[in-house]
Amino acid sequence: MVFPLLCAPNLVASKNMSLPAQIDPYKLALQGILLEGQVAVNDLPRLSSSVMAVSGSLKASIQFELDESRQRIARGKASVCVDVVCQRCLDAVNIELKADFALQLIYSEDQIANVAANYEPWVVVDRMADLNSVIEDEVLLVLPIVNYHRAEDCTGDTFVEKVAAKGEEAVVDSPFNVLKQLKQQ
Ligand SMILES: [Zn+2]
Repeated sequence: MVFPLLCAPNLVASKNMSLPAQIDPYKLALQGILLEGQVAVNDLPRLSSSVMAVSGSLKASIQFELDESRQRIARGKASVCVDVVCQRCLDAVNIELKADFALQLIYSEDQIANVAANYEPWVVVDRMADLNSVIEDEVLLVLPIVNYHRAEDCTGDTFVEKVAAKGEEAVVDSPFNVLKQLKQQ
């Protein structure tokens, strides 16, 4: 597939275009290419199975570049809206997942130790890499384990009261409080 962005870095493709699935990230980094576009829900199978629904396409922009020490880097942002379960009322709550990432390309896992602390390793053994899968990984990393509606939008308020009551009990029984009392005597 010929992706027009590769030919003219100054011509940024429409953000409504699909991102290319298979890319040569080493070449893109050497050329300093910016990729912007969308990933369709169908190309995000692991995200789809982790949430109630993916609402709309994922949008991403990834700048491929060489950093000051000539490492090949991919810096990106991705965002997507998903429906997840509110743990207070068990209805769907729509949240936006926003990922910010900086990846250093390496040829094998042996090189992970050489990846600078401000980057995550991106192991690309053969020249070609699956861009959708990498973006999906980054979005899954920012998916919260538990989710809630904002208090005013949520119908499940009993749970909050129970937690508050439990919290008070816990303070009374805390061993630190017992220690404090002992010290004061
Ligand atoms: Zn709720």
